[in-house]
Amino acid sequence: MDSIKCIGLLTSGGDAPGMNAAIRAVTRAAIYKGLEVKGILRGYRGLIFDEIVPFQSNSVSNIIQQGGTILKTARCQEFQTVEGRQIAYEALKRENIDALVVIGGDGSLTGARIFAQEYNYPIVGLPGTIDNDLQGTDLTIGYDTALNTIMQAVDKIRDTASSHERLFFIEIMGRECGNLALNGAIASGAEAAIIPEISIQQDQLADLISNGFRKSKNSSLVLVTEGDITGGAMAMAERVKIEYPQYDVRVTILGHVQRGGSPTANDRILASRMGAAAIDALLDGQRNVMIGIQNDVIVYVPFSKAIKKNKPIQQDLVDTLKILSI
Ligand code: ADP
Repeated sequence: MDSIKCIGLLTSGGDAPGMNAAIRAVTRAAIYKGLEVKGILRGYRGLIFDEIVPFQSNSVSNIIQQGGTILKTARCQEFQTVEGRQIAYEALKRENIDALVVIGGDGSLTGARIFAQEYNYPIVGLPGTIDNDLQGTDLTIGYDTALNTIMQAVDKIRDTASSHERLFFIEIMGRECGNLALNGAIASGAEAAIIPEISIQQDQLADLISNGFRKSKNSSLVLVTEGDITGGAMAMAERVKIEYPQYDVRVTILGHVQRGGSPTANDRILASRMGAAAIDALLDGQRNVMIGIQNDVIVYVPFSKAIKKNKPIQQDLVDTLKILSI
């Protein structure tokens, strides 16, 4: 096995709070272990368009508390082509970068997997996404912060919802994954969550209305995961207006506010542990794995498993939300 002397580090895809804490941890752990570090700007774009900068320990000073990513992030179409990846590989060779740490979501790790296989190139991934939709890890970097942001926003919406006795649909990020909506609903005491994992099996809106929401209250908060599977909050509201006109319905789309903000202590600690673990993994000869956490223990998850679609939702959370909204 070739020895690793220099690592490249990039953040890719959707940004997530805690990415900076991860950048800091990877950089400092690498330097501690005697490695050189190069920061690649704007995700895979930086490899193709040669935006690569040397990183020292103080390059990552004073960033642990900042949301977003100092490396910037981007979506890079070129990396999805064989020709684009060839250019990326040549850049890595030219820069003497022996291994990569990729921080991102399922798209970024899919790209990492393809590239690692094509060039037999060492890559370790860190799960950086607010959605918590990667398999083999209990948590992803950014999820806890986003959940707290959602909870605080829903608390505020509750004040106006109860004053006006309204039914609110609040659209939450997550694409095909209902974790944010489900746990956001539990944390904020909302009546229900309409999530993609259940939408394919049943008409959650009809079930909700036929159960009469919470009998003792005349305002209701329902968190809805964005996207085509649930139809999103707007579509829910339109349906209610037509099918259940007795409700005074409103919609809030939380949008990008969910991605921002200073990471919570949990996200900073998770990112710090995972970042340090990425360097241990590379030096240990691990390849094509994502760093995960299971029952508070750091684990290595093969990319092929991490990026598998349809992470199962925890049924006990679904049941708890239902029980507590009587
Ligand atoms: P996320 O990592 O947040 O899921 P995206 O799905 O947008 O974000 O993916 C981020 C980037 O990862 C893409 O812009 C592209 O550069 C790379 N990527 C995604 N899927 C692939 C793929 N199938 N092959 C190569 N690169 C990919």
